[in-house]
Amino acid sequence: MMKIVTILGARPQFIKAASISREIMRVNEKSNVKKIEEIIVHTGQHFDTNMSEIFFEEMKIPKPHYNLNINGMGHGAMTGQMLEKIEEVLIKERPDWVLVYGDTNSTLAGALAASKLHIKIAHVEAGLRSFNMKMPEEINRILTDRMSTVLFCPTDTSIDNLHREGYEGFDCHIVKSGDVMQDGALYYAGLESTQTRRDTPFVLATIHRAENTDDISRLSAIIDALNEISKSTAVTVPLHPRTKKIIHDQNIQLNDNIEVIDPVGYLEMISLIKNSTMILTDSGGLQKEAFFFKKPCITLRDETEWVELVSHNFNLLAGADKQKIVKAYSSHKFNDDYEIDLYGKGKASVKIVSELLALKQGRM
Ligand code: UDP
Repeated sequence: MMKIVTILGARPQFIKAASISREIMRVNEKSNVKKIEEIIVHTGQHFDTNMSEIFFEEMKIPKPHYNLNINGMGHGAMTGQMLEKIEEVLIKERPDWVLVYGDTNSTLAGALAASKLHIKIAHVEAGLRSFNMKMPEEINRILTDRMSTVLFCPTDTSIDNLHREGYEGFDCHIVKSGDVMQDGALYYAGLESTQTRRDTPFVLATIHRAENTDDISRLSAIIDALNEISKSTAVTVPLHPRTKKIIHDQNIQLNDNIEVIDPVGYLEMISLIKNSTMILTDSGGLQKEAFFFKKPCITLRDETEWVELVSHNFNLLAGADKQKIVKAYSSHKFNDDYEIDLYGKGKASVKIVSELLALKQGRM
């Protein structure tokens, strides 16, 4: 039997891990013997019910075997404590693989703990780069990639990035898997509870990235743009707790036509995306979901890791520039031919789990 320890802790990781856990369960159900044991470690980075628990419930992710409850501290303390606690779990569990997702502190701590114990690391969403070294996520993904044994790349660009950094000279496997978020979007969009309709048009916006929330001039400019857009179309904002706190503390004013709601579960999020007319976001995942559900997207950042969306004109980078955001909203002509396959066809989890099994059986 192959044993995997999955490290997760932040909202987008629950969404990505759900598809892999479902595939692991499918493989086990299909064979007579249990082929894979998955031990889930939740670092506690996101802990509110609507940022964590709701995803486990709705998406039927197996309950974590370990909950490390590490949150509410600076990057150093958080990553350090995670490293210490994850190491303890790995010494006890001795897995064949440590599976990490994306680019958070939980990803980095998981990879670092595993690498010191010489446990093989599989990184899902490898090779992405923003080339902005001020982003904590960029540091996390570069370091995690370098420690990983197998790098599951979602796109051609992510593979090119690794080649440019000389990865063919390293002792690792680069696998083009496609994007696990596509798997989740296809699967969960098919569930009945995602069919809620809204009758009036609205734009869906999310803001949570540190480069926007921790810079008041950027945050104010984005809110100004949303205030302006809301004069013609309603704007719905499921607001991340961090952004909510800063908007409140800084007394930033939002127009009445902006509907601020608490963060929602994934099924409701899909319903909001499907019903919206456009997405404005600084989220990585949501940029792709806009494409999956055929909605134009304005990205509230200066760069993106999902460059193919921009080069194909499904997505426009508007930074935190009020005029640019409002102009993009009112007059940009986006590509509306969504037939192109940029992220695989929802088969990433099948590819990832089968590769892990094959590599365990000696194809190293
Ligand atoms: N999301 C959600 N509820 C919300 C806001 C976002 O389920 O209220 C989902 C969103 O659809 C996407 C994921 O959370 O799948 C993105 O997470 P986030 O924006 O926190 O992180 P990023 O993708 O930027 O790493």
